[in-house]
Formats: sequence, C-alpha cells, structure tokens
Amino acid sequence: MGDIAIYPGTFDPIHFGHTDIARRAAQLFGRVVVAIYDRPSKQLLFSTEERMALAREALCDIPNIEVRSYKGLTTAFAESLGARVLVRGLRVISDFELEYQMALTNNQLAPQLETVCLMTRKEYAFLTASILKEVFMLGGDVSTLAASHVVAALTRKRESLACPGDSVTLVSLRD
Ligand code: ADP
Repeated sequence: MGDIAIYPGTFDPIHFGHTDIARRAAQLFGRVVVAIYDRPSKQLLFSTEERMALAREALCDIPNIEVRSYKGLTTAFAESLGARVLVRGLRVISDFELEYQMALTNNQLAPQLETVCLMTRKEYAFLTASILKEVFMLGGDVSTLAASHVVAALTRKRESLACPGDSVTLVSLRD
C-alpha cells in the first residue's frame, strides 16, 4: 500500500473513464500521480495547464492523488518520483496491442517499474477523449461522460473556436 503509482496520459480532457481508473488505483496504491504528458499541443484541444487544472478539479476529493505534468520519457519521470508502478487503463482488445508494446518498452528502459492495467468499467469501454470531444462539438449531451466543470471548459473552448479565422477542425482534435 505504500507504493507510489504513476498514471500517465494526455487527458485532453479528463473524462469519467480516466477518473474511474485513477480512483481505483488510489485504493490500491499509497500515492497516485496522474502524470499529464506535456507534449506539443498542436493536436490537442487544451493546453497542459488547462488539462492539469481540469484533472485536479476532477480528482480533488481523493487525498492520495496528485496531478503533475511531465516532458520526455515516462520512465524517467516515474523514476524521479520513486514510482514502482505504472497504471494504465484497458478498454477494448484493440488497446491491448499498444499497451503491451509500451509495457515491454518501458520494462526494457526501467525493469523496476511494473505496469499494471486496470480494466475499464463497461459503461466507459467506448469512451476516449476524442469521442468525448467529437460528440460534444457536434452538439451531443456529454454529461454522463465527463464532470460538469469539464463540460463547461469544453463549452468555453467551442465558443473560442467558433471565432472567425480560427482554423481548428474536429479532424485535428483526434488523438
Ligand atoms: P484517451 O484514450 O481517452 O485519449 P489518454 O490517451 O490520455 O486517454 O489515456 C490515458 C490512460 O487512460 C490510458 O491508459 C488509457 O488506456 C486510459 N483510458 C482512457 N480512456 C479510458 C476508459 N474509457 N476506460 C479506462 N481507461 C481509459
């Protein structure tokens, strides 16, 4: 229970599939660091700071969860935290191949870091950040997929993207 676990991802933005995995990990490990990958934001809807703020609010009621951002190798960030476990969520069979490849790569880089995959709850098995953004941008109700402050942030983003001259399209928001 004293173990530190890192739960890395893009979280653009955080949704109920993510928070479910983070909450369950927090019951298994002493400290969970939700690690937001600070990658060039061209393909992302939210900046790193925005993604962090949304994740912090979504998980603020869980004392042993912390939200941090990182650049570079996930294994290097895990090592800097002293994390022994890397948590990932598994949705559908098609996730497995990539997760397996990443777990093997990370194991090569950091043999002491164990990857632990938690199965999604069936109600979130279809949910990705891309699906959330696409449904929202097309006018669908996403209140069962993400917290209200995330929906509010999506609403503000949609309004700002509607400004004339802004060329961001849904296609560019895909992961
Ligand atoms: P997304 O796939 O939603 O764009 P990320 O790429 O940021 O999210 O994924 C971060 C982690 O969260 C990954 O391990 C991913 O498999 C997991 N994850 C994402 N969506 C879900 C979900 N609906 N259920 C369980 N785990 C999920």
